[in-house]
Amino acid sequence: MSRAGTVDRPAGLAPPTGAVRLLAGLGERGEATALADHVARWGLVPDPGRRGRGGFLDELHRSGLRGHGGAWFPAAVKWEAVAARRLGRPVVVANGSEGEPASGKDRLLLRRAPHLVVDGLMVAAETLGASRAVLYVPASEARHLSEVLRERRRAGIDPLDVEIAVAPERFIAGEESAVVAHLDGGEGALPAFTAVTPVYRKGVDGRPTLVQNVETLAHAALIARFGAAWFRSVGTEESPGTALLTVTIGASGPRVIEVPFGATLRSVWSALGESPAEAPAILLGGYGGTWMAGARVLDVPLAEEHLRPLGATFGAGVVLAPPPTMCPLAEVAAIAAYLAREGAGQCGPCAYGLPALADAAASLAFGTRGGAGGPAGGGLQARIFQLCESVEGRGACHHPDGAARMVRSALLAFGDHVDHHLHIGPCPSAAARGGRSVPRPSPVRVQGAAPRPQAPRGARLSGARR
Ligand code: SF4
Repeated sequence: MSRAGTVDRPAGLAPPTGAVRLLAGLGERGEATALADHVARWGLVPDPGRRGRGGFLDELHRSGLRGHGGAWFPAAVKWEAVAARRLGRPVVVANGSEGEPASGKDRLLLRRAPHLVVDGLMVAAETLGASRAVLYVPASEARHLSEVLRERRRAGIDPLDVEIAVAPERFIAGEESAVVAHLDGGEGALPAFTAVTPVYRKGVDGRPTLVQNVETLAHAALIARFGAAWFRSVGTEESPGTALLTVTIGASGPRVIEVPFGATLRSVWSALGESPAEAPAILLGGYGGTWMAGARVLDVPLAEEHLRPLGATFGAGVVLAPPPTMCPLAEVAAIAAYLAREGAGQCGPCAYGLPALADAAASLAFGTRGGAGGPAGGGLQARIFQLCESVEGRGACHHPDGAARMVRSALLAFGDHVDHHLHIGPCPSAAARGGRSVPRPSPVRVQGAAPRPQAPRGARLSGARR
């Protein structure tokens, strides 16, 4: 099939028909998919010369793909903004830094399905006419990705050499202006005021820059192969396709599962063999996300259009459900303390607001006498709401906004529990927990592998060019 505005399908390759796409056919032992297996499974990305530069952008538009890094921005609009700039050839960056501690999906993709990510980066580079492509990844993934790139160079399948840049280990290192600052040699990957100079206009080396999450790029790689109509064949009208979720339930470690948008958390619990009754409190979206009572959110379709009216967001696909025995306010305090530590301290809300908010959250959780218990007092709740308001929308980036959303949502979701802490004192589980910080979940496990799609006949690697 080769019509203008459509995508050529690799001959003989059937696209996955179910809702498991990115995770389809991953190896059982946690190993990376070798290039030969990757090509046997997915074929090579069709030659962009046969669809023209504008062709894939049109396809991307039709697909409705959105960013899976947390911002939920339409990918095609972002790519178009870069394509429209004339100040030098663009730079494309695959952002796999994943500073969000409760997320593991991006590291899992980089570790297990790296060729899908690099394919997506190459699709972006060719679509935008980029002359530089970068994989921005945690230090833990750099060595193995170097080998992945060597394998691709040997096969001669990429139009552009790909560099690896190691992301600093911090929460805000993946914010796109922080990515640009780091790639330009800045210390520590600090965000900048992107409202003045958005990176699509002036990014790395002063050139238009696309910073795109690695899961988003992996979806783009499949859209380039199978087209927008296939992509939209699962999911909802406004949130088409599938998404990777990093799910941590109770004391079990984090698991990554792929679901179609519109699935419910109840079905996720069921797929993971967990009991929904064991989820009184759920943090959705990540550390800067929204707390909700389990009973309120378990049957809501996971899609932005259904979550937004509830004040929640899909974010980076994080679902965190502490054990029912754990005080949710103690979790809130631990996460607020973490977010306060992770702020760059270069704007007022991070320098002053987030530490004050974290202190107030700790007083609510653990009492006011140095953590030794005692009711926090009725005025504390009003102070927390006021602190949330004072930091929102006042930073160069959205880091303070996320912290405020997370804390405020807990106060709204756990009203009875908050009243107990305010007027009677910390509950026993909060007192037992103290201020221990939330650990980084690692390693992640995959859930939801599916049978391999049929391999294309005659897929070859050597000297192959898309
Ligand atoms: S709001 Fe905080 S994290 Fe964001 S740029 Fe300012 S100091 Fe840095």
